[in-house]
Amino acid sequence: MNEVIEVAKKGLSYELYKKLLTVYGRRGEKAFFYLKERRIKKYKDFFVVVGREEYVVDEFFCTCADFLIRLKGEKPCAHIIAVEVAKVAKMYDEIDAYYVDFM
Ligand SMILES: [Zn+2]
Repeated sequence: MNEVIEVAKKGLSYELYKKLLTVYGRRGEKAFFYLKERRIKKYKDFFVVVGREEYVVDEFFCTCADFLIRLKGEKPCAHIIAVEVAKVAKMYDEIDAYYVDFM
């Protein structure tokens, strides 16, 4: 993740896309798409990534099936990668509400 973070500090770029793809493959590519489309929302309690559904990301945890079932919680899914990059590059929309209120 560290090498990705270094590139992410410079913002959304082709270099970041290449780095995400090299390190994380298709999941990295998806993460870049979420960033580009500004699909990361920062609520007061959680980060949420808007995909086919809304996925709640909390540190190294995500509510998607890819993370919970396929990756068995051992490796980051596209949503976790997207949130990690978004934090560094400030590429998220802040929402002045608690996500638990919408759950
Ligand atoms: Zn996920």
